[in-house]
Amino acid sequence: MQWTIGSVRITSIVEQDLDFLNDLIVAAEPAAIKGIPWLVPHFADREGRLSGLIQSFVIETADRKIIVDTCVGNDKDRPAVDAWHMAQTAFLDRFKEAGFDPSAVDTVLCTHMHLDHVGWNTFWDGTNWQPTFPNARYLFAESELSHWQASYDEFINAPEPPKGRMKRTDKNVYEDSIRPILERDLADIVSTNHQVCEEVTLCPTPGHTPGHVSIQISSQGQSAIITGDCVHHPCQIANPDWHTHADVDAERGAETRRKLFSTLDGSQTLLVGSHFSEPTAGRIEADGSGFRLVTE
Ligand SMILES: [Zn+2]
Repeated sequence: MQWTIGSVRITSIVEQDLDFLNDLIVAAEPAAIKGIPWLVPHFADREGRLSGLIQSFVIETADRKIIVDTCVGNDKDRPAVDAWHMAQTAFLDRFKEAGFDPSAVDTVLCTHMHLDHVGWNTFWDGTNWQPTFPNARYLFAESELSHWQASYDEFINAPEPPKGRMKRTDKNVYEDSIRPILERDLADIVSTNHQVCEEVTLCPTPGHTPGHVSIQISSQGQSAIITGDCVHHPCQIANPDWHTHADVDAERGAETRRKLFSTLDGSQTLLVGSHFSEPTAGRIEADGSGFRLVTE
């Protein structure tokens, strides 16, 4: 998928399907999903099963090539999610087939540091984790990085190795996808409202994780926002209070969604959902006690 916002082009590069959203979003049982008819056919089937994607977005301006989120990655030890453990996908081939060169990317943005957003920060060369985008600056939000560094230090300094598959996964994510970037001095630590360039700005959308950011794009009077995981699926547009099992602060996440959708209600800003199935983007309109995504 591709979108044009003024002079900026946004291209989605899909890594894989995301097929456990019914389990991830706490209230999203099939019976409840069937009560939101506009989700069919793009975002749910008639049986109430939710669909989703794991994808990166390339933002091209006149002089910048920015990648937003880097999916799950290959060869990564991920005890928490079987489908992502030691994954082997053709993501990098698809990235190149779409006409992009990893060495030409100048900026890597991570909306947050969960395993499905930082994986291709690095690749395994047989000996070491190497940066996939060797000429890019990787922008890490300070409050996000410090959260995961604190949780890593806690893991390493625990008298007994913490059990829990998620804790071990988070530790591995830090070691194979974050630390190698810091060690090679490729990271810039920024605020959650950092302006990346004239057209691209980070926007704090906390809750899912403490330093979570969305990405705002503005050009020639047009605008878009790439959500990251402040919303995982359009069913949370209908029900902004629906949180996920992966939210660090569920209440704050719901507050962030209400605020975001209220701001976008009726505007021409395109909401691009990081985990949304095609058509992936739409405009927000108020609908009953929630909102709906209007796709073209
Ligand atoms: Zn995610």
